[in-house]
Amino acid sequence: MTGIFFRSYKIYYIWNCAMKQVERPEFKTKAHVVFDDLRQRIASGALIPGERLILKNVAQEFGCSEIPVREAFRSLAAGGFVELVPHGGAHVSAPNVQDIAELTEIRALLEPEATCLAAQRLDDTALLELDGILIEMAAVASAEHAPAYGALNRRFHDVILSHCPNRRLATTINDIWDRAERGRLVYLKGPRFIADSMNQHIEMVRLIRAGDFAALRELSVRHSQFGLHAVRDLVAWEDQSAARKVGSHR
Ligand SMILES: [Zn+2]
Repeated sequence: MTGIFFRSYKIYYIWNCAMKQVERPEFKTKAHVVFDDLRQRIASGALIPGERLILKNVAQEFGCSEIPVREAFRSLAAGGFVELVPHGGAHVSAPNVQDIAELTEIRALLEPEATCLAAQRLDDTALLELDGILIEMAAVASAEHAPAYGALNRRFHDVILSHCPNRRLATTINDIWDRAERGRLVYLKGPRFIADSMNQHIEMVRLIRAGDFAALRELSVRHSQFGLHAVRDLVAWEDQSAARKVGSHR
């Protein structure tokens, strides 16, 4: 069933990509590019807590001087992603999982409502965009690329939220997503978790097309709770590893 779905919409996906290529790229300063890239890698777990970021090496990687990298490090430190160390370097800080859990709890309360309000206003272009994202998600879900999957999950929900008629509600939810970005670490839970998540996204798009908003609300609540449980597992894991560290020091 899923295979048929993906084959049927492949042509729309290709069209979608072609349209995207003619869009003007967003202008970003070098510091912004470095900041965005490192933030993504930290949020996804590609860069792990404690990992050292050396100014000179990062500048070399991005082909720029050390000035924008220094600026990016300062912005990352302000967001709690890194801690600055003397002589311009930084190391990746540990995520505050308790914070992430609390923010995810708030999002789980708000997002089903926003999803239902928005779903009723999604046009064909938005639905095609969701189809395209689903195809991209399926590609990285099978390859178990957790960071890429996490980024696509955000994009999927962004497309829906951008149609929410209550702009304050949508902005509040987006702000929570930004603050709890490191919650994307949940996708490191493994292929089974990603497969369940994938199926929920496919079902969401099907229900939106069918105009079954009551079922969509139920599924959206379930989807939010599913994410929240995974974040709570992260908190429990963090508590256990902290306890293990205390134990090993006795
Ligand atoms: Zn999702």
